[in-house]
Amino acid sequence: MVKDINTTVTLHNGVEMPQLGFGVFKVQNGNETVESVKKALEAGYRSIDTAAIYKNEEGVGQAIRESGIPREELFITSKVWNSDQGYESTLQAYEDSLKRLGLEYLDLYLIHWPVKGKYIDTWRALEKLYKDGRVRSIGVSNFHVHHLEDLFENSEIKPVIDQVELHPRLAQLELREFCNNHGIKVEAWGPLGQGHLIDEPTLKHIASKHGKTTAQVLIRWHLQHEIVVIPKSVTPSRIEQNAEVFDFELSKDEMNQIDSLNLNERYGADPDNFNF
Ligand code: NDP
Repeated sequence: MVKDINTTVTLHNGVEMPQLGFGVFKVQNGNETVESVKKALEAGYRSIDTAAIYKNEEGVGQAIRESGIPREELFITSKVWNSDQGYESTLQAYEDSLKRLGLEYLDLYLIHWPVKGKYIDTWRALEKLYKDGRVRSIGVSNFHVHHLEDLFENSEIKPVIDQVELHPRLAQLELREFCNNHGIKVEAWGPLGQGHLIDEPTLKHIASKHGKTTAQVLIRWHLQHEIVVIPKSVTPSRIEQNAEVFDFELSKDEMNQIDSLNLNERYGADPDNFNF
């Protein structure tokens, strides 16, 4: 059950990952990243999700150092960007991310997008980093079922997680079932619909019944579905608010009402058709 902000999920290699984390997409490097991440750490988050392409790994690293929290109490994720995919270039990209973060290792390193013709070689590099003990766990992002099936056929180690766009308008039912059957955790990016779902009437109604906000209802919906969730905010009050989701529970009926909002509708790019 999702008891508090320290609640973890167990990845298939035995590593514990906080179920609620903090995302930093579109957060400016420098002061904005340092202050947001420090605020998140003060509010109790212990998992931070960054990526090379966010260009704020330095700020994340600075916030970690200034927080004084021991490294082993944190769970840090980064991702190899598309232009760095391929075996040797991924090994180099990992070193570059560590250097920018000022860290000795990551808890989770992900393939950011399934770049055709490259993601298998990229995965071999992640397997090498994992086998060499350089990274605690390896996973993928934006992989459809068919990408995962292709990876299974052409690799040794299964990803621990697939981080995908997921919210009530894009419930990812097929992927969730597939991952569940293969011991792969599902992690939601854009859990608030990147802000689009904040005024959705059903969510607003349920939120008002609990004296909560729609953002808190959205995060709670993910948690109760056993999905790992990483909402982003640069607003201190929202950073706190998004962590205050452990003092109420959505009923079965409310969960069903939110489930019924699914339209298989994306706000972001389709992993079968992206041009970056
Ligand atoms: P989110 O769904 O987390 O939404 C973020 C938006 O919601 C921001 O505009 C934020 O505003 C606003 N917001 C946050 N909290 C509240 C609140 N309590 N009330 C009202 N509005 C709120 O979108 P993201 O795209 O940022 O996704 C989360 C994380 O997932 C990213 O930060 C990143 O780490 C990861 N991600 C991964 C991707 C991938 O390809 N693997 C792609 C996209 C994201 P403000 O900041 O102004 O407060």
